[in-house]
This record gives sequence, structure tokens and C-alpha cells, in this order.
Amino acid sequence: MPSEHTRQITAVIDDSVDLLWGISESLFNEPEIAFEEYKACQLLTNALRNFDYSIDVGIGSLPTAFRATYGAIRKPCIAILAEYDALVGLGHACGHNLIAAAAIGAGIALAKLRPKLKGQVQIIGTPAEEGGGGKILLANAGIFDSIDAAMMFHPASKNLVLRPSLASSRLKIEFIGKASHAAAAPEEGINALDALILSFNNIHALRPTFAPKDRVAGIILEGGRAANIIPAYTAADFSIRSLTTKRRDKLVEKVIICAKSAAQAIGCQVEFKVTHGYREIIPNKVMAGIFASHLESLGRVVSEPDPNERMGSTDMGDISHLVPAIHPYLAIAPENIAGHTEEFKQYCIAEAGKQAMLDAAKAMAMTTAELLTRPELLSRAREELSSAMRTK
Ligand SMILES: [Zn+2]
Ligand SMILES: [Zn+2]
Repeated sequence: MPSEHTRQITAVIDDSVDLLWGISESLFNEPEIAFEEYKACQLLTNALRNFDYSIDVGIGSLPTAFRATYGAIRKPCIAILAEYDALVGLGHACGHNLIAAAAIGAGIALAKLRPKLKGQVQIIGTPAEEGGGGKILLANAGIFDSIDAAMMFHPASKNLVLRPSLASSRLKIEFIGKASHAAAAPEEGINALDALILSFNNIHALRPTFAPKDRVAGIILEGGRAANIIPAYTAADFSIRSLTTKRRDKLVEKVIICAKSAAQAIGCQVEFKVTHGYREIIPNKVMAGIFASHLESLGRVVSEPDPNERMGSTDMGDISHLVPAIHPYLAIAPENIAGHTEEFKQYCIAEAGKQAMLDAAKAMAMTTAELLTRPELLSRAREELSSAMRTK
């Protein structure tokens, strides 16, 4: 990419630091949870409108989603995604304030570079990452149909461009037995709590067969109402995750068999409700390589992912199955500080967060400019995804 592009992007973003940090601080100070990000949506779209983007709010029937672009759709089209939902009770402890501000920064820099780019840029505001799967809802509504590649950044405790994420599902299990007097006539009852406890024990018995990143975590939602009544109804909720969607689905199946066999042993009925969460991310190596080289030129050391890397799940995983995508992480906190904590939250409003926001904005703008000036890179990124999907 011509070095004048790199210089221009750096200059525009450095000039916009007060604007971007102001956006990040406003989001942080007024956290809004999934699907309720009305003020955030307005703040972000107003900022982009000032740089001549035309804005659609409420895309995909999500009132707090938006798309910012210019002119008619021109191919290829690169999307930079902004998340801006906060955590219930914790505020911006996942740093989505920084994600959103960085996306705006990249958008501003690319607006200035527009005449030199062979294609289009879209900034897409994607609500409800924390459990609501906003990106999946937008993809189902066709919002990504015209997109050729997508990227975002996420704050973390390491600089990583190829960190995997887990495929996730939720499973609710309900047991229906029969109430009876626990002392006078226990033989007349069918104990739904025993079925629930047996299910947990069956699952524990399977744990030695789990792969290292298989996760089955359960809680009891209802375990009975009174100790002197045989429980007629119990319920549990499980979060089930694994390294691939295929393996996650097998794990869900295994947990269902654990519950069915427990119900059979006790003689009660059992019901299931599976809610598929997010697919695992397929980080595009071509795009990640470009992003990493720009990150390194900005003075960051990019780490190789450790096989024991801590990881969660993201709805960007689903997008990465549709178009070449990256979800790189930039360090804002020391390695022992995990996201979704009060400690991590403090870094999301500190100097380290500000620096990550600026570096991410620059590296995303540079990566986008490179993809829109060197079409062969985009073809390679697409080929890589097609061959990855053949093995899924
Ligand atoms: Zn989070
Ligand atoms: Zn997050």
C-alpha cells in the first residue's frame, strides 16, 4: 500500500483523538445493555454523519443497529463492525466502548481516503453481542449479503490476531415428576430432583472424555419447593461450548442423553430446549497477516496464540463463516486480568484503552485500504475461507 495512505490514516486518526475518546467516554459513562443501545446508536451515527456518511438506523429490524456508507453499493465492500452493548450490572467491562470508538476512527480516516479506494466501506453498528447475537440477526436479515470482508477489534490482555473462539449453545432441561408427601407416601411420588441430580452426575462421569476446550457448565433453576414434598418439577440451564460447531452439537447431544437416561431411571418426563449460540471464529489468515503487519508498524508486539489460550464466544464467529473476517485483540490490561470484571473495566477507561482504540482504528483503516487497493489479497482471503468451509 502506498505509504502516503498509511501517513494520511495516521494523521487523520491522531487529529481525531479528542472526538474518539469523547465517544468512548460517553459510551462508558452511560452503559446500555443488549438491544437497548439507543443513545449509543445516536452518538455513533451522528459522528459518522459529520463525515458525509449516509446512515440507515434500524437495519435488519433491530432498532439500535445501523449502517453507514456513501453512494450506491460498490464492490468490493469491506465492513468495519462496531459493538456498543454493555454488561448487565457491570457496565462496559468488556470494552465495547473502545470497539465502537475505534470503528468510528477507522470510518473517519477511510472517508478522507475515499477517492483513492477501489470499492466501498461500510461501518455496521451491531447491537447485543453479549448474549443477543445481534450480528446473527443482521446476517439473517441479509445485511452481510453485499459484504466481501468484515473486521472489528476487541480489547484484551494480549495482542493477538489469530485467537480462536468457542462455538456455544444453551440447553434448558425440565423434569416433570409427581408430587407426594415426602414422609407419609414417598413411594407415590416421582422425584424430579433425583432425575436432575442424576443428570449432573452422568455429565460428570463423561468429563474425562471431554476435549480440552469442551465446556459444560450447569445451574439448577428450580430444585423443588419444600423438603417435605417430593419435587414434581425441576429445571436446569446449561452453557455448552466447544472448539467447533460440529463438536458443540455432539456435546449437546451427549448432555441430552445424560438427562434422558436419568429421567428413564426415575420414571419422569423430560423436556429440552436448545438455543444455539455462536459459531466458532475462523480468523482469516490473509487479513490477520495484513492487520498484524500494521499493528507491528504501530509498535505493538503480536503474540502467537497459546494452545491453552483462554477464550470465550462471539457472534463474530458466525460472520466469519459467511465472509473472510478477523476479530483481533489488542492488549489494554495485564495478562492476569480477565474481561467481564471490575478490574478489566478500569482499563477500558484508562490511557491503555485509549492507545488500543487509536492503534485499532489505524490498523483497521490500513487493512481496509490495503484490501481496497490490492484486489488479489481479497481473492486470497476468499479462497482461504472457501477451503476452510469445505472441512467444516
Ligand atoms: Zn463480553
Ligand atoms: Zn466483548
